[in-house]
Amino acid sequence: MIQYDLSYWEHESFFKNLDVAVIGSGIVGLAAAIHLKTLDPALQVAVLERGPLPIGASTRNAGFACFGSMTELLDDLTHMSEDDVLTVVEKRWRGLQRLRALVGDTHLDFQMLGGYEMFTEAEEAIFQQCRERIHDFNQKIGRITGHPEVYKVVDERLQRFGFRGVKHLILNQPEGQVHTGKMMSALLKKAIEKGVHIFNGFIIKDFHDTSQGVELETESSWMIRVPKVLIAVNGFAKRLLPLADVYPARNQVLITKPIPGLAVEGCFHYDRGYFYFRNIDGRILLGGGRNLDMEKEKTDDFGGNELIRKALVELLETVICPDHPVEVDSWWTGILGLGPVKKPIVERISPNVTVAIRLSGMGVAIGTLVGQEGAELTLNKI
Ligand SMILES: Cc1cc2nc3c(=O)[nH]c(=O)nc-3n(C[C@H](O)[C@H](O)[C@H](O)COP(=O)(O)OP(=O)(O)OC[C@H]3O[C@@H](n4cnc5c(N)ncnc54)[C@H](O)[C@@H]3O)c2cc1C
Repeated sequence: MIQYDLSYWEHESFFKNLDVAVIGSGIVGLAAAIHLKTLDPALQVAVLERGPLPIGASTRNAGFACFGSMTELLDDLTHMSEDDVLTVVEKRWRGLQRLRALVGDTHLDFQMLGGYEMFTEAEEAIFQQCRERIHDFNQKIGRITGHPEVYKVVDERLQRFGFRGVKHLILNQPEGQVHTGKMMSALLKKAIEKGVHIFNGFIIKDFHDTSQGVELETESSWMIRVPKVLIAVNGFAKRLLPLADVYPARNQVLITKPIPGLAVEGCFHYDRGYFYFRNIDGRILLGGGRNLDMEKEKTDDFGGNELIRKALVELLETVICPDHPVEVDSWWTGILGLGPVKKPIVERISPNVTVAIRLSGMGVAIGTLVGQEGAELTLNKI
């Protein structure tokens, strides 16, 4: 870490007159900053990001615009009331509409190709449980989405997609997919157009809420004072907020080289959602498998995990693309922010500091909404 003192000029020109600093430039931080400028265009808003780009989950995810697979909802119903489960579904659905309205379908490359859940022979019992609930879920979730038939068994598509060892498919028709990179670059562009200042390489190490505003201390020992702060660092929250009920969860992701004749289209959940894959640019993007090495993946270190990577390649070659030669083009990892419940934390933690964290792996769906709520709380509007 290079140490350099903050010059008088730097302090006076870049940091002296800020009204709000948002820490973290993921989907939540950017949506919050844009909303702050929409609520009050005169505000001086800065986003302080530690990476050269937003490097957490928002530029590294799978781009599923999803709001609820059937096994996930059935599992949620074992420890949540039906009203609470439907509230989460509604929040995701509303969040997706907010994202689409804010960024625009063209900039997102939004495509409603559907979300699928795959079931193997060993999962026949859980598939039958889902099948029995389809009518009920279609009525209740139909009221939220306005779609007459959200869930549908589509086993006949298995042959078209060419999967092996999969017995059933349940389609969620109004789910879609976005191009994650385009989404984030459009959000960055929008924030800059609104007059948000974005600073990269800005690692916040500590903060103190005082009667004169919030003192932010950076890794290179700069100290800047800002009247209000919104912390949007999701899976990295423990480093700044040791008491926050959030833990990091790393995910391994691969992308294949283009696969000639690939027929797979849509977003797919496999093995209770622990594995997920989709088509993009004639390739397969595949990730997950955290359940194979749960403790080791509770980290915000971006390293790989050979055990999980091997399992992902095996799944790719034997189940997803058994009839095509496939080659992995590249790997990356991303960091989720999870907790004991699937509810984000949007709270004021001291007079001038608000947090909007713990997106629980559904930030594409709810990130915009959570950022906007965080912005409103920062300005005491809710
Ligand atoms: C592999 C993967 C696949 C996913 N797939 C999907 C999906 O298909 N659909 C879906 O809805 N969700 C998905 N998610 C979840 C979704 O990406 C996240 O919920 C969402 O991006 C979280 O956004 P965020 O802004 O809260 O956090 P992040 O995007 O993690 O942003 C936090 C930012 O804070 C910065 N930061 C951290 N600490 C500091 C500090 N001290 N000082 C300054 N900056 C700091 C980080 O560099 C980072 O850029 C996936 C996540 C992963 C990892």
